[in-house]
Amino acid sequence: MPPNEQDRLAALRSYRILDTATEKDFDDLTELASAICGTPIALISLVDQDRQWFKSHKGTALTETHRNISFCAHAINNPKEMLEVPDTRTDDRFKDNPLVTGDMQVNFYAGVPLVDEQGFALGSLCVLDHQPKQLTEAQQSALKTLAAQVVTQLKLRRKLVELETAGNRIQKLNALLTTKEREAMQIIENTPMAMALHTGEDMQIRFANNMMLKAWGKNETVFGMPFNLALPELTSLDFPRTMRQVYRKGIPYHQTEERMVFKHEGVMKEFYYTYSFIPLFLPDGQVWGILNTSHNVTKMVQNRLSLERAEESLRLAVQSADLGTWYIDGSTREFTPSVRLKELFGYLPHETMSYDAAINQIVEEYRGKVLQGVEEALTLGKAYDMEYPIISHHDQQLRWVRATGKLYPPTEEGQAPFFSGTMFDITEQKKDEQRKSDFIGMVSHELKSPLTSLNGFLQMLQLKAGKAGDQFTFNTAAKSIAQVKKMTSTINGFLNAARLGSGKIQLHKQKFLLNDLISESINDALLSQETHFFHYPPCREVEIEADRDKIGNVISNLLSNAVKYSPGANQVEVNCLIEKGQAKVCVTDHGMGITPEDQNKLFDRFFRVQSMETRHISGHGIGLYLCAEIIQAHGGQIGLQSQPGEGSTFWFSLPVVSQ
Ligand code: ADP
Repeated sequence: MPPNEQDRLAALRSYRILDTATEKDFDDLTELASAICGTPIALISLVDQDRQWFKSHKGTALTETHRNISFCAHAINNPKEMLEVPDTRTDDRFKDNPLVTGDMQVNFYAGVPLVDEQGFALGSLCVLDHQPKQLTEAQQSALKTLAAQVVTQLKLRRKLVELETAGNRIQKLNALLTTKEREAMQIIENTPMAMALHTGEDMQIRFANNMMLKAWGKNETVFGMPFNLALPELTSLDFPRTMRQVYRKGIPYHQTEERMVFKHEGVMKEFYYTYSFIPLFLPDGQVWGILNTSHNVTKMVQNRLSLERAEESLRLAVQSADLGTWYIDGSTREFTPSVRLKELFGYLPHETMSYDAAINQIVEEYRGKVLQGVEEALTLGKAYDMEYPIISHHDQQLRWVRATGKLYPPTEEGQAPFFSGTMFDITEQKKDEQRKSDFIGMVSHELKSPLTSLNGFLQMLQLKAGKAGDQFTFNTAAKSIAQVKKMTSTINGFLNAARLGSGKIQLHKQKFLLNDLISESINDALLSQETHFFHYPPCREVEIEADRDKIGNVISNLLSNAVKYSPGANQVEVNCLIEKGQAKVCVTDHGMGITPEDQNKLFDRFFRVQSMETRHISGHGIGLYLCAEIIQAHGGQIGLQSQPGEGSTFWFSLPVVSQ
């Protein structure tokens, strides 16, 4: 065993030659060796751990033998020298060897160790004969040369094997690379973000995904082109300059929501982009390219900006109108008042005002109604429009406010429903109304007694003229009496309104037939106007218990409005019917009608529709207010249906006296 056996074996194995097929290059060498030395057998024997294996075996079918009968195992123990055994039968080392004594009959052996560059003897090139023999010097030297040739051949072979494996690796690597590349490309193509790769000083477009091409409004023809040449419309934005800095500094560059105006597909447009230029590094730290990623955020930014503008103008409007605003979350009931709202309730801007605290400031008799209004708006989505007085938190001043709000349904984006609205100070308006009301009350009161006297005198005059047969004076007196009656009822209305304003309405109830009262009212109405017909189909007897005068006022009011607000028509229908235990009176005209927005406010005190048609019709806006107050005081209902341009039906209903 050579002393460095393990290393020698490792060296041998590095040739990866054991158990490989025969090769012509090696067979040529054994052929030569056998020819030169004149021996029938020549072998290239490689000494493995337990065997000698023949890479080439000229003159024998044997491909290997056990190591312990190997001649070569001896030869390699002396790498520098050739082992020649002229007659094996007389050599103590070999005379008992089965190769000598057996069929093989090896009587002569000469082997030259195959020594590699590191000095390891891998095996030997040997020649064998069945007879004893002695090699000539020339033969010995030729055998050595051939052995050197075998080693060279072995080395060459190893190189080839190495090259082949390296080639395979490269091929595999290449295959891997293309898969990786394909995957990378797919990722880049499908990333929902515009991406491009730039290299060189002029930021040549090496690659761009579909989104980037779309953003540029280009196609693949731009690949390989310098940036500014490919995208002349972006030249003024000078992206390559920024990219070059990224190149030099090796630091990424990010921009958020940058506004750009450029020609896109032939049209100048405004865009907003969030983009990054990211340097790509080689293993040695050098930048080899720029990854350009960008996100078109135009829609988002434009939406946000228009929302901001809308919010700003709303804020300005709210501010200049001195409106208080509030917000109540539909699910959590969290209440958020604005500073102005807090002010309206008498709170200082920095103070917190809870919902309950705000409600507490409302004058007691209105509180329940407001709470109910808010609740109905929040739960049923009902419109919220209320006027009520507040006692200011700090200074205990009384202030009237009007609050209008609405429930905003949940949005698709998941925002919970919320109830929000505005509130403004109407104290001055209320004071004005009060002054107006006081004045009307006072004037009416002053007018009432002269009117009563006038009525008396006119009746006397009519009586006298009747007796004297003075028809003209009689008729004139009758008409004057009708006018005085109308005036009295107007003044009574004013007085009632004034009293109502101060909560002093009084009902004098009695049982009477509503159908008769309607007839009477129609007759009175006929006296004071000459333009319209009243159509009143026969109606069954309907008994009610109510203030006869006041209900009469209501009917007269509806009749006179029907005439007043239908100048182009000449017919008014009056109906009386019983519906669900209620007597219902309807007055229908074919006049100008009322828009839905105005319909809501019609029963408010002093409200009048402002339009070209109503401009020349005189009135005070208290008639319907009075009607509503009177009917509600009786526990009845009042309402209307109207179509602008087609006419209106005003109705009221009162409980009938059960038979
Ligand atoms: P006015 O004294 O102004 O008639 P009312 O309270 O009776 O006051 O009516 C309020 C407003 O309602 C009127 O100014 C008018 O614009 C509108 N209105 C009332 N009745 C009718 C009707 N039949 N057709 C159209 N508009 C009407």
